[in-house]
Amino acid sequence: MHTEPSPRRCDACFACCDYPAIPELAKPAYQLCQHASTAGCAIYAARPGPCHDYRCLWLDGEFEPGDRPDRIGLAFDQPTLIAEHPDYAGVQVICVRELWEGAPRGERAKDLLLRLSRAMVVRLVSHGGRTQVMGPRAMVELVAQRAADRKEAAADPKPGRRDPP
Ligand code: SF4
Ligand code: SF4
Repeated sequence: MHTEPSPRRCDACFACCDYPAIPELAKPAYQLCQHASTAGCAIYAARPGPCHDYRCLWLDGEFEPGDRPDRIGLAFDQPTLIAEHPDYAGVQVICVRELWEGAPRGERAKDLLLRLSRAMVVRLVSHGGRTQVMGPRAMVELVAQRAADRKEAAADPKPGRRDPP
């Protein structure tokens, strides 16, 4: 989110000022932040922690220079919350946000998604917030099974336990 100078710059991209919910700003998901302006972040020096800390993978040097999120319609990251979630233990996962409807059908976006999903689990979140999981079949099935087991355990937190008489 418009952070310190680096070989790559956010410039006209405001993707991550739009799709995430930012409680510190009372900003809902998929609504451009009120502080975003053509000159950049209007409260840059006082921007909250999530803005300060966030860097998408493109800004960190992944993918091609022309793959800036606002150009291809996809933003990639690997949030700790997902990467360290028990459902994904030992499984490489990448999160992708669709910046506008239909963006994943763009030529470059399609190519990237195909390439990534051959090697790892791809969590694609649509502009409406729907999540789609793609990737090598064994990995996707493992993650789905873990999620199902977790839900089952949550519904019955102490399986086998008998109530005391
Ligand atoms: S999505 Fe990436 S390139 Fe775009 S504003 Fe955020 S950090 Fe910068
Ligand atoms: S405060 Fe600044 S960096 Fe944070 S979402 Fe708003 S415009 Fe973006």
